Amino acid sequence: ENQAPNIEQTNIHTVLKEIFGYSEFRDGQSAVINAVLCAQDALVLLPTGGGKSLCYQIPALTLPGLTVVISPLISLMQDQVAQLQALEIKAEFINNSLTFEQQQDIYQRLHHGDIKLLYVAPEKVLQYEFKERLSNLHISLFAIDEAHCVSHWGHDFRPHYCRLSELKQQFPTVPMMALTATADIATRNDIVHQLGLSQPYIHTGSFDRPNIRYTIEEKFKPLSQLMRYLKTQKGQSGIIYCTSRKRVDEVAEKLADAGYNAAAYHAGMSNEQRQFVQTAFARDDVHIVVATVAFGMGINKPNVRFVLHYDIPKSIEAYYQETGRAGRDGLAAEAIMYFDPADIGRVKRFFEDITDEQRRRVEEQRFNAMASFAEAQTCRRQILLNYFSEYKREPCGNCDICLNPPKRFDGTLAAQQALSCVYRAEQRFGLGYIVDVLRGANTSRIRDNQHHTLSTYGIGKQHSNEFWLSVLRQLIHHGLLAQDITQGASLRLTEAARAVLKGEYTLQLAEPRLQAKHVYQDKLA
Ligand code: ADP
Ligand code: ZN
Repeated sequence: ENQAPNIEQTNIHTVLKEIFGYSEFRDGQSAVINAVLCAQDALVLLPTGGGKSLCYQIPALTLPGLTVVISPLISLMQDQVAQLQALEIKAEFINNSLTFEQQQDIYQRLHHGDIKLLYVAPEKVLQYEFKERLSNLHISLFAIDEAHCVSHWGHDFRPHYCRLSELKQQFPTVPMMALTATADIATRNDIVHQLGLSQPYIHTGSFDRPNIRYTIEEKFKPLSQLMRYLKTQKGQSGIIYCTSRKRVDEVAEKLADAGYNAAAYHAGMSNEQRQFVQTAFARDDVHIVVATVAFGMGINKPNVRFVLHYDIPKSIEAYYQETGRAGRDGLAAEAIMYFDPADIGRVKRFFEDITDEQRRRVEEQRFNAMASFAEAQTCRRQILLNYFSEYKREPCGNCDICLNPPKRFDGTLAAQQALSCVYRAEQRFGLGYIVDVLRGANTSRIRDNQHHTLSTYGIGKQHSNEFWLSVLRQLIHHGLLAQDITQGASLRLTEAARAVLKGEYTLQLAEPRLQAKHVYQDKLA
């Protein structure tokens, strides 16, 4: 009974070596390949760049019939097919970008068994006529790429993916392999369920991306923070994610004005414009893409050196996928996020518009996890991987928390100054204004309010703007200040503030988290 698998082992190894030119399988690949060669369904969970494609490409070349690969994006199909054809593998794609004649030609070749791998879009594969054609062919394997598109819980739901279980019904004996880089547990379970996989062999790789350094910076003046960061990244490729199209356009324009080779990308642009940007980025003609989440699947650029989140993403899953576009080449890369605690409230207000209640609750829970990740003071990578049920015992040594552990200082005096300033300004003003008064800014608004005569005016001018913003945010966090959203976000003291003002206890505060630490360090001393 050992004989058969052994023959197959040598066989798939030969294919790996002689056709793809690799000497060893990566973790998990051979087990998955063997499972489908034995006609078992499979679910392959590997991070991007983990080597998912070979898991179905090698069976496709080993099995006698046709392998049908379902892929959601035309650009993905084209790339993959071009790569395979360069290796002289008989691969084609079929979608509506082809002419009638081209499609007929492919059908002919399929009929003659002259194609080993056929890439198709889900909407195409589900068409009655197409399914009829398939039923006349010898199909050995279905591979569902980007399988998380099947799930409502995923970050990229596609309605057509939901119907792919029809393939399972029509071809019950043909094994089906689902592949995704989604690490989210709910989504994984949903994939098995929605596709109707039967007792699949499941391979879960490690989702750790050790070469990516995670950093969360407090967000003060994001544009200047960004400009300062980019000075350290001259000529490098990077992606900057913003939540709104408007902001994408603004930031892209500012970067272009500053002489950076940057382009915008969002769903408000035409397909042609978007394709143009994506191609230019792939060819290093554009260095920086400023984008919404629309810039996603299909970016297969190995040398993205940084992914920067200008705003907090909606879930840890989204954060992980987006940061995961950095460092695919395995070389050092950075994931940076600018975080303003006030954004939490802003994002949450968006969820109120979701009418489906269950949906809203899921979105809220996911966002809450993201928010607590952003606020946490423990190793970023540990939190990320734990979220995906990949338990990691040791701190990573390659995130901002590990490299620059949070420092605390006795913030009692600063807190008293800030609280009394809010009080003296009659609790009618927001963060920025209070910071200006504390720092003694000479603004007409302050003069009009006669606030330059307050005893707290300029009382904290030895500290930076960022220092005071951070202190005020922490006072909100500690429940000493409350922010009235309905009143122009004005700050007011809570009952708890009294004890601090009276000096009844000392208050430990955290230093603001900044990358360019040295700029602020002396001011904190
Ligand atoms: P994924 O689809 O999981 O994002 P890919 O299938 O595109 O990843 O693989 C990422 C890269 O790793 C590709 O360049 C691929 O050729 C390479 N690769 C995959 N398997 C191996 C292997 N066993 N040995 C060496 N390189 C591999
Ligand atoms: Zn760490």
